[in-house]
Amino acid sequence: MTRIDDLPIRDELRGKSPYGAPQLDVPVRLNTNENPYPLPEPLVRRIAERVTEAARHLNRYPDRDAVELRTELAGYLTRTTGHPVTTSQVWAANGSNEVLQQLLQTFGGPGRTALGFEPSYSMHALIARGTGTGWISGPRCEDFTIDVAAAREAIAEHRPDVVFVCSPNNPTGSAVAAETVLALYDAAQAARSATGGALVVVDEAYVEFSHRPSLLPLIEGRPNMVLSRTMSKAFGAAGLRLGYLAADPAVVDAVQLVRLPYHLSAVTQATALAALEHTDTLLAYVEQLKSERDRLVTELRGIGHEVVDSDANFVQFGLFDDAHAAWQAILDHGVLVRDNGVPGWLRVTAGTPAENDAFLDAVRAVRKERSLKENKR
Ligand SMILES: *Cc1c(COP(=O)(O)O)cnc(C)c1O
Repeated sequence: MTRIDDLPIRDELRGKSPYGAPQLDVPVRLNTNENPYPLPEPLVRRIAERVTEAARHLNRYPDRDAVELRTELAGYLTRTTGHPVTTSQVWAANGSNEVLQQLLQTFGGPGRTALGFEPSYSMHALIARGTGTGWISGPRCEDFTIDVAAAREAIAEHRPDVVFVCSPNNPTGSAVAAETVLALYDAAQAARSATGGALVVVDEAYVEFSHRPSLLPLIEGRPNMVLSRTMSKAFGAAGLRLGYLAADPAVVDAVQLVRLPYHLSAVTQATALAALEHTDTLLAYVEQLKSERDRLVTELRGIGHEVVDSDANFVQFGLFDDAHAAWQAILDHGVLVRDNGVPGWLRVTAGTPAENDAFLDAVRAVRKERSLKENKR
């Protein structure tokens, strides 16, 4: 049997495994930060209508520049942040992962580096690898916040071409203060002043769940600042695959140098446009999920767990001597959470109230089993 490594693949891909949370068939799945609520029926019908209309023209290529969709996304950003955003400042692709890939194809690549503060979203490093961009793991404090002084030092030392800031940070949960992002931006520009600065990408996949306002206004007057967003989390449309960015129009022009022509199908554009007609209903779920997230934080602390403050639709909790064993024990009670490989910690997505109750029951049961074991020793 031929194995991957028998093929003439790129050296940096040898021995690596693909990204992926286990997709196990268990009653309660709280491991991938999806929205637990299916789309409302009126929206499902509206999607069917718009897709039907799009189907009448599938003999033609879609709008290559997705102008109508980008205009609606700009309108959504303007309405929700109070900061005016134009169509020319917005770009959309198949999930924010593709947006990030296009950014690294444009601003990273062989001979260039990207830096992220870990633990963070593991796809940043994986997309760097896939685009031949060198990866530098930057530091965080014990409490998972970004230590500005240490971060500045790392940027000055490594002079990365691209800096990732995930706010709210996945998997730890907290949002980043605007002053911190500005300090990192200035440091990154200073470190690469001879080559026109460095791109700073703020990944706001979870910002709709945050206590802090969006960092979107920071793009104004900062052509090397990019904000990335997704419809996979707050919009409850992970299956749609629609991500977008907001930045200076020059950045939008630049990514068009690498994007595949007609990358965003007419069906995707029609579906996303239908979803954007229903932002109010979709964001109503966000309020419910935020209060469930807050309940998880309070109850986990009540049980005796350490919990990182969360601005997202998930909660990082610990501390475990052996996080993987704890993950398995919770799974044995029918609840799938996520082991992101952060020593001592696990991550749980806020689900429906019933799912969260099942999770909390599982955690209590696991603690009881463990203390029984301890007593027997
Ligand atoms: C889930 C997630 C994304 C979303 O990726 P899509 O490709 O839009 O589904 C992006 N960034 C972070 C940090 C995430 O956790």
